[in-house]
Amino acid sequence: MPDIESNFLNNTTVADVLDDVEGNDLLQSLADVTVPRALKDECPPEDLAHRQFEDAEFWRRFAPYADVSRDEFLDYRFQNKKSVQNVDQLADLLDGVADPKFIQDVKTGLDQAPMNMRISPYLLSLIDWDEPYRDPIRIQFIPVASSRMPDHPKLELDSLHEQDDSPTSGLVHRYPDKALFLPLDVCPVYCRFCTRSYAIGGDTDMVDKVSYSPKSDRWRSAFAYIASRPELEDIVISGGDMFMMPANKLEELGMTLLAIPHIRRIRFASKGPAVMPMKILTDQKWFDALCRVVDKGREMAKEVCLHTHFNSTNEITDISRKAMNKLFKRGVQVRNQAVLMRRVNDSSTEMTNLVKQLSYMNVQPYYVYQHDMVQGVEDLRTTVRHTIELERHVRGSTAGFNTPTFVNDVPGGGGKRDVHSFDHYDPITGISVYRSPAVSDKVYLYFDPLHLLPEEGQQRWSREYEHEAMIREALCAADALKLERAVG
Ligand SMILES: *Cc1c(COP(=O)(O)O)cnc(C)c1O
Ligand code: SF4
Repeated sequence: MPDIESNFLNNTTVADVLDDVEGNDLLQSLADVTVPRALKDECPPEDLAHRQFEDAEFWRRFAPYADVSRDEFLDYRFQNKKSVQNVDQLADLLDGVADPKFIQDVKTGLDQAPMNMRISPYLLSLIDWDEPYRDPIRIQFIPVASSRMPDHPKLELDSLHEQDDSPTSGLVHRYPDKALFLPLDVCPVYCRFCTRSYAIGGDTDMVDKVSYSPKSDRWRSAFAYIASRPELEDIVISGGDMFMMPANKLEELGMTLLAIPHIRRIRFASKGPAVMPMKILTDQKWFDALCRVVDKGREMAKEVCLHTHFNSTNEITDISRKAMNKLFKRGVQVRNQAVLMRRVNDSSTEMTNLVKQLSYMNVQPYYVYQHDMVQGVEDLRTTVRHTIELERHVRGSTAGFNTPTFVNDVPGGGGKRDVHSFDHYDPITGISVYRSPAVSDKVYLYFDPLHLLPEEGQQRWSREYEHEAMIREALCAADALKLERAVG
């Protein structure tokens, strides 16, 4: 790993720190100048941890990949082919690496999970298999039965009510001028916490899914709708995941949207850069197709960018940095939307490091989401109170334009709300009340996970007759009793 650069110049001359500076006459002319005494304390090395990018052949530490060469590991086809898709493959791979009790725990966990499993060799090799229970990557992608908690009584499948706002299958038109298009139903990995577990990743024992396969009649119907609505300016192309789309399909999709006169902005949303960054480095055909859409957009003065989804610094390596550099140098803007998850990124240190490390790679931290109310992942959610405290720590630690907005995508389809903008929040019952006037006149409720509430709140939720009383109290305090409720 590269050394952390020291940026402290007290009682020293510029010459002492100019070794690395070349080709700048002004800087070189400062060689004799004494550096002004700093008023700030010396920066501890851990505050620069975000500048470290793992550049060793880290995958070789994971026994099953000990013999995999760099070229092979960087080949996106290897990553696709060797992605683990069921528990037997995982058990084979982990034989002798993980405790058999852990593997049994995964087997039972998968039987109860709304999402199937799919995980890339890149991620598998970044997991600390000595402590899989604490590992932030394991926590996101591999369920275990032992951490399962009962769902919140107010939780439902498709909590965002996306299907209610879909004029045609896989197109969500919720906000006035923007729409979300789900062109396919597969992703390079499957996340335990996926909001779209109602559709993504194939049926499981728990859920029969809506199908979003890339059939051309479905695409045609979505294009026709978008073309028929002149108020639409902004299309988000999201999960399923365009990393799984062949280059020619990606280009066709992008070029078709650009050709619609009222479309001004396209965002390709992909988990790919976070979970399989090597594809950007080695699938040149796909990269070129993306760049042709970006270039065409620029020529037409329309924005085409990439939104991705890094959740923890453990997912970031030198491969990620090289991939992000390649996009940046080619003029492709990348933004990040992270999901806030307990034991993954819910400490101020980890969240701040994530924000700074993304910024260091020129990825703009755009959103951090309050975890949606999704089936089977109560262990991952945090309280609104915690999210607000976290935001307090992050804001001010770096550039404002690299400071993410913490949002709550409220159940019932109210869309994303600034997490602070509730009309009322009761940290004891964990109920927050939001309005979203640009979307509807309804009132929206979010519920903190029960196990993190104070004793008094947990007691009240244990009595079913109290549920409605608690909701009415919150609505009354928000002066919203007369509004129609989106959920609850
Ligand atoms: C998130 C989302 C968008 C885009 O919202 P931004 O706040 O502009 O990022 C558009 N449509 C739907 C349905 C969404 O969920
Ligand atoms: S990559 Fe996105 S759409 Fe796919 S499973 Fe993960 S969260 Fe869901």
